[in-house]
Amino acid sequence: MRTSFSRIAWVLVVLGLIAGIFHALIDDPATNDVIYLAATILLAVGVVAGLATHRPSVATWSFVLAIAVFSTTAQILDGAGDGTALRIATEAGFLAVQLTLAAALLIVTVRRSGASLVRSLGDGLIVALGTWILIWVLLIQPSIDAIVEPNIVTGLRGVTLATSTVVLFLLVSLLFSDANRTPAVWLLSGAITLSLVGDLLYALDKSGHLSVGTRYGNAPYVTSLFLAAATFLHPSVRGLSQRGSIRLRRPVLGRLVLTTLALIVPLVVVSTMDPQDRLDRVVRTVSLFVLAAAVTARVIQAVRDNARSQAVLVELAQTDPLTQLPNRNLMLDHISDALEQSWRADRRPTVLFIDVDRFKNINDSLGHGTGDDVLLAVARRLRNTIPERAQVGRISGDEFVVLDPSSRTTGDAMQLAERVLAAFHEPLQVSQGDVFVSASIGVALGSPSGSVTAEELLRNADTAMYRAKDAGRNCIAVFDDSMLERVTQRLSIETALYRALERRELRLVHQPIIDIQLGDVIGFEALMRWEQEDGTTVSPAEFIPIAEETGTIVPIGAWALLEALSHLREWIDRGVCPESASMSVNVSPRQLHDPNFTSAVNEALTRSRIRPQQLWLEVTEGVMIAEPDQALATLRRLNALGVRVAIDDFGTGYSSLSLLQRFPIQRLKIDRAFISGIADDVSARSLVKTIIAMADALGLDTVAEGVESIRQLQSLADLRCAKAQGFLISHPVHPDAMESTLAALERFTNWPKLR
Ligand code: C2E
Ligand code: MG
Ligand code: MG
Repeated sequence: MRTSFSRIAWVLVVLGLIAGIFHALIDDPATNDVIYLAATILLAVGVVAGLATHRPSVATWSFVLAIAVFSTTAQILDGAGDGTALRIATEAGFLAVQLTLAAALLIVTVRRSGASLVRSLGDGLIVALGTWILIWVLLIQPSIDAIVEPNIVTGLRGVTLATSTVVLFLLVSLLFSDANRTPAVWLLSGAITLSLVGDLLYALDKSGHLSVGTRYGNAPYVTSLFLAAATFLHPSVRGLSQRGSIRLRRPVLGRLVLTTLALIVPLVVVSTMDPQDRLDRVVRTVSLFVLAAAVTARVIQAVRDNARSQAVLVELAQTDPLTQLPNRNLMLDHISDALEQSWRADRRPTVLFIDVDRFKNINDSLGHGTGDDVLLAVARRLRNTIPERAQVGRISGDEFVVLDPSSRTTGDAMQLAERVLAAFHEPLQVSQGDVFVSASIGVALGSPSGSVTAEELLRNADTAMYRAKDAGRNCIAVFDDSMLERVTQRLSIETALYRALERRELRLVHQPIIDIQLGDVIGFEALMRWEQEDGTTVSPAEFIPIAEETGTIVPIGAWALLEALSHLREWIDRGVCPESASMSVNVSPRQLHDPNFTSAVNEALTRSRIRPQQLWLEVTEGVMIAEPDQALATLRRLNALGVRVAIDDFGTGYSSLSLLQRFPIQRLKIDRAFISGIADDVSARSLVKTIIAMADALGLDTVAEGVESIRQLQSLADLRCAKAQGFLISHPVHPDAMESTLAALERFTNWPKLR
């Protein structure tokens, strides 16, 4: 249906062109009348059919109706005779058509392009006035002298022509400004342009300037009627007065050319052609004066518009669109100002860097909509908490900054920070209900010497905030210079770590684990070492967390698995250790969340030909707390293979008994912290006793970590701890040194008997 209507519309365009040419070529008034009548009927049919099918807006309807009534009346009157009253009525009819057309176009232009009405009217007025002056000087004034027609008729026709120019102007600005020029827009533009050509020919003919003749004069009208019919039949007429898609470019050039021409051309004509009489002079002066006034008004309005849009742009560039708080740039400006002022007033401006803890979890679990609500609530809370003199801004995502320009001491700064931290203790109200969040706050103070810049101060507060996060979140950290060193050091480790694996800077050392009752070495723990190019060694306690954070732990961990199992294979093959010895490998949470982890384990087992039962994976309690479901699934899968799981550093984390029960684990490694006091400290001893009893109840194996003295080992034996590792037995050693190490350990084989 849509396609057939659009096809008919384009056929009408072709037919319209043919009909127009025919009308101009055939020198037979009777035939021409038939063509004209046919075109008029066609338009009527097209309008009715188009409006009924496509149902454009009421505005379109009423304008079409008005134009139809006015133009039909004018046509009938035109043919009725030559009396002055009739001629005036005819001209008034044509003027009414143009005025209606101008109004309709104005509305369409404004609606489609979103341009302001005043602006479009202003430009239209300038063009119309300019044209009016031209028409007056070139058409009306000469015909007054020639007395071809009554003055009022000529005047009316002049106004009609001036209005036509407005119509033309609006049409051009519609085409210039429209991002989405639909066929209806093009067809309508064609129809109106052709009818304007007809109007001009008609005016020239009537004022005696040019003898055109109906044959040529009506030809443009004929084609125009066809095009108008096509406009209404085309399906895109429905969207004619709807807002187009967002404009990509403003119609600046087109408007500028037209309005400038409308100014210059009449000025040139007026200044080169002398006024004929007083009336001419008066009309010219008044017209030029009105034109000048219109231009001035338009210029003032344009300047104001410009200032307003500049203000909006500045505002947009400096505020955060979500919370309407100052953004990073503006906050930096404020900090800069505060630092400048502080120099004189002996103050130390404070910057608080506030990061909402675990905001990602809120976003992931409650959705981004709620995330935004939470940020808005945080912004409100902060605004209500800080004193009047302070300012709050949103730097990015979940990061906010508070600036107190008038604090003097660290005490002042801490007071404010504590106030802000406490503000988070109350739940935030969002549409989905109450949400509890906490924040980590970094505090940095401007230096008394005034040497610190705004960027530095903000970065210092940011650094301190990270320290607060490290310290367990929901707390405050005050910046000091050592933090910066740590950051720089961390950064250099981060970069070097990326290359460590390919540069073969990583290696594994192993610490034997003994069976306390038998004294035999039953397994080993693989521990990673990183020796950098320049000979410096970095402790795993330092680089493993960084590798974990950056994700490099995934390839490094996979390498460690294969390497450790290969060492074990070699020792077994060489008879260094018994066939059944096990290998413990430390695994980070990030590795457990890697979907390829299970296959990495499998591959290491296959390539080293070690049975899964000989591999222990050591995970910390943290694994059970953060995202337990995913870790649980991975551990279950590995358990199913036969691989066993140990909880490392047991007792230092926060795992609950229920988690212990839920997780597929087979061993607890009691943290060194409990072992060190076991020989002398009664409470440490009873703690270890409890842990062992609990492990027994759950059917778990126990390993004591960090055994350093024979008395500790003795106590562990008394408490029936199954296994032990520590410096007493052996430091972690290079794989090549394992043979001699184990030989030296023979003495432990005898120690239970010596007791
Ligand atoms: P961990 O798994 O608890 O390893 C035991 C740590 O205690 C080792 O430190 C070991 O050298 C040390 N240690 C052993 N016996 C004694 C003792 O009697 N006294 C004292 N004071 N310390 C003892 P290391 O090698 O510096 O490793 C630190 C941590 O780094 C490990 O703690 C483990 O969590 C992590 N780590 C080491 N290698 C790897 C690895 O390959 N992958 C992963 N993900 N983490 C690793
Ligand atoms: Mg370990
Ligand atoms: Mg440990």
